[in-house]
Amino acid sequence: MVGIAITVAGLLLIAGGSYYLVASKLPSLEEADATLYGQLMDADAGLIADGQSARSGVASASTVLPSDDPWVQSITALDSSSLTLHQWVLLFVNQGVTKVVTSAPTLDNPNFNDTPPIVIDVPTPGGQATASPAPPPTFLITTGQAVDLLTAMQKRHRLYQASLTSLNDSVGAAQKATAMTDYTTAVTDLQTGLATAQFLYDSTKGQVKDNSTRVTLAAALKAAKSVLDANGNITAGDANSAADVQAATDAMKAALATLKDPSDKVSAAVDNPRITKATDPLPAACQARGVGTNGCLDPATLCVVQRDQLLACKAVEPFNQLSAAFEAKFGHGLYVDCGYRNYDAQVAMHDRYGSPRAATPGTSNHGLGLAIDLPDWEYPSEYPPGQAAEIQYGTPQENWLIAHGPKYGWVFNVQGEPWHMNFVG
Ligand SMILES: [Zn+2]
Repeated sequence: MVGIAITVAGLLLIAGGSYYLVASKLPSLEEADATLYGQLMDADAGLIADGQSARSGVASASTVLPSDDPWVQSITALDSSSLTLHQWVLLFVNQGVTKVVTSAPTLDNPNFNDTPPIVIDVPTPGGQATASPAPPPTFLITTGQAVDLLTAMQKRHRLYQASLTSLNDSVGAAQKATAMTDYTTAVTDLQTGLATAQFLYDSTKGQVKDNSTRVTLAAALKAAKSVLDANGNITAGDANSAADVQAATDAMKAALATLKDPSDKVSAAVDNPRITKATDPLPAACQARGVGTNGCLDPATLCVVQRDQLLACKAVEPFNQLSAAFEAKFGHGLYVDCGYRNYDAQVAMHDRYGSPRAATPGTSNHGLGLAIDLPDWEYPSEYPPGQAAEIQYGTPQENWLIAHGPKYGWVFNVQGEPWHMNFVG
């Protein structure tokens, strides 16, 4: 006997006591359930991706943030709890669940916290029942269970997104704080480098054999200044990221490096007979004269004061203090034309200028590392280079040095040499 009844939802066939739902024009229950099952699978795939993002995010954050960072800990806990949901979905899949039904009188999996049975008794031929691994039973979960599971997964997805955003914010802030430290140093270094190069440029006007070296330095200065202008104003509160700050830092370091070569070339081109290099503290003549004599000082007792210029080590710090005080007054530090002069250099000076302008070799205070010569340009002059410019008394700079030098142990005590200061301690 076959009975036929038409329902709102579809065609209900009643055959031998079994019930089947057959699709009609309206969405069938099976189609709706398949959609829910698909959403569950999609949510699970999304949660797996979330977990991978979270683990990767925590791993990279751990190099920047402390291990007890609250976002690292909350994301780690969230990932652990989310794995439980994923394992439930895996369990359903492994047990052959392929759809969700709206009602399940044979449901064998009433809640998430019970593990469904996976072993059943299967009658063997001959009538003996033996416990054995079961063929996969068809588990069904209800719509309500599926929705609960889906809701829980979607909630965790939102938590992942929010927590990862917060973690990234924390990482970005920490990375930027680190980058700002290097950045601040780079700004100061470039400012100092620019000031030094600018001073070299300004103070060598008319002092160099080849002025094209100064033209090249001027171009390098202009370029480096523009890099500083474009990159030197970032503050911690700016919207720039750590990568932005790092890029600005790199640009300024590169700009600083571009100043070195033209500065070296200008220094090398300076045509000033008082500038003598003391890179060899012990020339050959000192073998006979003896280490420690005038012009033959033990290199261990000499220290660099500027560039390749040396002084007796004890005189360097007092000079630096004098120079700093001078800079506070006049805007730039003192430039040392010549500090320690070795014996050979004094011989060359004496050959060029003779006595009394150049001291007899072996008697100069320069040979003791206790004298400096200041350049002509410390004494503003209307005279062109090579003329009387170096004999300038009574300039504001010299008057200041005469008044304040003794506080640092530096005095003018050589008549006729307004450029020469001795360290008397
Ligand atoms: Zn001198």
